Amino acid sequence: MLTLYNTLTKQKEAFEPPKSGPVKMYTCGPTVYDYVHIGNLRSYFMADTLRRTLKASGLEVMHVKNITDVGHLTADDIDQGDGGEDKIAKKALLERKTPAEIADFYTDYYRKAESALNILSADQTPKATEYVEEMITFIKGLIERKNAYEKNGNVFFDVTSFSNYGKLSGNTVENLKVGARLEEHPDKRNPWDFALWLKAPEGHLMQWGSPWGMGYPSWHIECSVMNLATLGKTIDIHTGGEDNIFPHHEAEIAQSESGNDAPFSRVWVHARHLLIDGAKMSKSKGSAYRLEEIVEHGFSPMDLRVLFLSSHYRSQMNFTWEALAQAKTNRETLMQAYERMQTLSVDPAVVSNGANYLHEFVAAIEDDLNTPLALSTLLNTAKWINVIANKGQAIHPDDVRRYKKMLFDYFGLTREIVAITETVAKLIDERKIARDSKDFALSDALRNEIAGLGYIVEDGQNGQVVRKK
Ligand code: AMP
Ligand code: ZN
Repeated sequence: MLTLYNTLTKQKEAFEPPKSGPVKMYTCGPTVYDYVHIGNLRSYFMADTLRRTLKASGLEVMHVKNITDVGHLTADDIDQGDGGEDKIAKKALLERKTPAEIADFYTDYYRKAESALNILSADQTPKATEYVEEMITFIKGLIERKNAYEKNGNVFFDVTSFSNYGKLSGNTVENLKVGARLEEHPDKRNPWDFALWLKAPEGHLMQWGSPWGMGYPSWHIECSVMNLATLGKTIDIHTGGEDNIFPHHEAEIAQSESGNDAPFSRVWVHARHLLIDGAKMSKSKGSAYRLEEIVEHGFSPMDLRVLFLSSHYRSQMNFTWEALAQAKTNRETLMQAYERMQTLSVDPAVVSNGANYLHEFVAAIEDDLNTPLALSTLLNTAKWINVIANKGQAIHPDDVRRYKKMLFDYFGLTREIVAITETVAKLIDERKIARDSKDFALSDALRNEIAGLGYIVEDGQNGQVVRKK
């Protein structure tokens, strides 16, 4: 039984699957004005692990992950959606490109990074700019219900109209009053109200006609509307990084529950941030690493995946190159055991131990995605496979299936294609001929020659298996 820590109730709860249909899951996707960094990837990886766990437990999942291509302002995270400039428009001006060119370029990059990390692509990936009409309709509804008001072409959500404001983050209006900010938008009734629609300044690159004049939607309303359009009024799980809790997700709840008269998300799951060498990631210090930098240092994206697995998503994770090197060793151990398993003979009559390992693994991962514990179980399973291989024993077919399920389905690791040189490929072909003609002396000599070039060759059921030393 899967349990998840729900930010809304602040406790670990058993996840109740929906009575019918798939699990509806929404993840706040990237703001496509810059390259995604490994911190962003940690949050998407957490959602991926959750989705894989739901699927592996037999549930169907409908996963939506949006693309924010307008409305995320440079000060949105602190100013509740009315401070700063639009991140994409700003970058477009800087690079003398159109906002669409900027968004397309970084969306493409993000997709490639996710795919390199084997993060399953979402079932739907709505783009904010394609839902502006729906956003205008939704905002009109909020104004009619007196949850929102317009002033000078800007529309704000009135936080005092929603009695549950603050239920996710603890930032109730009462609590916010204590830490009142100094600067206030002149058109707001309460300093804690947040923007739904913003009037476009002269020459603003992205603007649409609306009942309130030319303007553009705010980041918060986008997610509420894309949720509604793709998944409906009530969803099962909403995920994001911890910085999304306030104001973004608090605002989503206020908008959706006021506009739809229905509960919004049942469960909220947030990943804590990734730190680099104990500090916040910083572009200016060059520590907002991208996936290519990981690869340039001689690591595979799968090493980063194992590194992510080695810490719990609700613990702050500290990235260091030493920790990544350890993750690489662990990945190699897991994959080598898998490759060795391919060389074993498979026999349903032998003793099976894999059920215990799988049981322990699933219990860990279903306990609020305790991936570090699941990883240590999987490393123990790899050890056990090596013992069988060292003794030259056979393996039970169910155990092969179980190991693959943990490695590939739950953990999303992929087999690296071993890039072999032409010389090695030739030697492998020669060795095949030697083995087919039962010339074992030549076959062994060729194996040694291949080993001298840095590759290990083993004989599996389907022929030779080659891996790097
Ligand atoms: P953004 O593109 O800024 O909207 O961020 C995309 C996602 O990455 C959001 O869910 C953020 O919460 C998450 N995020 C940003 N920085 C980090 C970090 N250092 N560690 C983990 N997640 C992060
Ligand atoms: Zn969002």
